[in-house]
Amino acid sequence: MEVQVDDHREVLVSELLRHATQAVSLEIVPDVAEWAKANHVTVVGNPIATSLPVRGQLPRAVVVRAKLSEGDLSGVLGRLDFSGHWGETREMRKDLVMFLRHLVLHELAHLENNWGQSREDDCDEWAFARLAA
Ligand SMILES: [Zn+2]
Repeated sequence: MEVQVDDHREVLVSELLRHATQAVSLEIVPDVAEWAKANHVTVVGNPIATSLPVRGQLPRAVVVRAKLSEGDLSGVLGRLDFSGHWGETREMRKDLVMFLRHLVLHELAHLENNWGQSREDDCDEWAFARLAA
């Protein structure tokens, strides 16, 4: 099964608007690493999603790969299971939109809190708190 993120653009944009304190754009791109290279920003590896602070005239951005595979989903869900979010991941396995909302909120958490890559668990908690709100 493959997820087409663009099919859910509206709900994801409204999720970001609801929880962002400043403008943030949602970029749905074929490949995050290639997009980063083309836009002269540094991204480690080739993640399914990332976030970027303000760049010159451009607003902050949450960048998500357009197509997500079963393996991409399992990677994220596995990390969440490992940190004890069994109940949430059970829901997310049944509800792909919830998975995607959490994914963009996780990236927004990096921006809103200035949290680096060492704060993955904090970003997950921040996102779950807002999903439930
Ligand atoms: Zn993160």
